[in-house]
Amino acid sequence: MKFALVIMFLVNGFKQVSVRYIYRNGVFFVSANEIASRFSLSYRKSNSGHALIAPSGRILTINTLKNTATVKGERHSFPDFFERFENGKLYLAADLWAELLSPLIDKNIYWDSEQHKFFIVRYEPSIRRMWIRHRDDTTFFTFYHERGLRPSVERNGDILTVTIKRGFYRGPCYVDGNQITYKWLRVRHTSRGTKFKIFLKPKMDYDLQRFSDSSVVMVFEQSLSLGGGMRFRRERRIQTVVIDPGHGGTHPGAVGPSGTPEKRIALQIALKLKRILENELGLNVVLTRDDDRDVDLLQRINIARHNNADLFISLHCNSSRDRKARGVETYFLSVAASDWERAVEAAENMDFSNFNNGSTNNSDILEMVLADMAQTEFLKESESLAELIQEGIVRRTHFQNRGVKQARFLVLKGVSYMPSVLVEVGFISNPKEERLLKSPSVQEKIARGIADGIKEFKKRYESSQ
Ligand SMILES: [Zn+2]
Repeated sequence: MKFALVIMFLVNGFKQVSVRYIYRNGVFFVSANEIASRFSLSYRKSNSGHALIAPSGRILTINTLKNTATVKGERHSFPDFFERFENGKLYLAADLWAELLSPLIDKNIYWDSEQHKFFIVRYEPSIRRMWIRHRDDTTFFTFYHERGLRPSVERNGDILTVTIKRGFYRGPCYVDGNQITYKWLRVRHTSRGTKFKIFLKPKMDYDLQRFSDSSVVMVFEQSLSLGGGMRFRRERRIQTVVIDPGHGGTHPGAVGPSGTPEKRIALQIALKLKRILENELGLNVVLTRDDDRDVDLLQRINIARHNNADLFISLHCNSSRDRKARGVETYFLSVAASDWERAVEAAENMDFSNFNNGSTNNSDILEMVLADMAQTEFLKESESLAELIQEGIVRRTHFQNRGVKQARFLVLKGVSYMPSVLVEVGFISNPKEERLLKSPSVQEKIARGIADGIKEFKKRYESSQ
């Protein structure tokens, strides 16, 4: 095996490797022969494909028919336009070579998209992982990076560029898009850091959230974004209310000592509340369920969204190991940034349907569907709606007043901009209160109390600027 001399020199602590390249249709290509010569590899061609062999004996095989390459047991696929033949020679995109050579020779190799050279970095990539998830019309690009890196986002037409200075990423240089929010993603390196170029579908908007060691770029339809939401809100009219009876179907929620399931109480109150709001306040009311069925969180979110809801009221019964616990409490969203972070993590990590299963307070709260945390306008509105509803129920039922509370909620950016609350109408775990909650006349009082609160809120909301 013959080894060619590798020409390297130090610039800013990086080793650079110059190569001969060609430029075609916006892509820099390097031939397999050139790569073999510059990186001391032996190159073999056969009918089945191409192979580059490192001095260690490790092999990179390239299947030019299937557009795949395999190295270190991992298969890399690449788009058609990353491969070409000229004068009988195989050429691959330079950044694809960097992706394949890194595992082949156990070095962190990048293609410098400005200087048109490879460079080798001694230390491990400072961007550990990029994770792309799509949920309910919103795509989350999560970058897990070293602390202290602060990604920035810039938009130019339909290209969104996420720049992470001093960040290096050793992953696929090309990612096929979902064709809903983005067409594809390219990763570009320079010795200063990494640029992730997201090629958006038309009419997409974005948002960036930075945390200590991760950052999330969200891409969603413009109509769902802040601007659209704000324009919609300027009318300041309450017309459509979504009532969300908790749980349902195979998810009973909490179950009282005599066997009453929370899902039934929530639905019965919801139906009474719907009638009052429609007949007496002339509101358009949408229920997330009007019978005993499973509705997962995303369906609840979608119902609120697709109906352009102005208010979102989720109904639940409280439960405690302390059988004497009693009373009514109403929740609105919290603002803590750390909660936001946890909520994003939860949204990405958990199956939403799991939120339906529990019967504790916390799982109820996670079922809430809420607006952009940054929108303190809606936070204040949610709080005053919660206070008015709480007051209304206490006045009508004389249940113990446990007060209005902030809590952790599940937040989905770009999903909803509406005052939203969750009412725990009473403790189904308390035998006395369970009996009361089952009574149609008490349910009517609770519904009237909530309606009183909504009526007062509507009056204040529509008269304020
Ligand atoms: Zn519940």
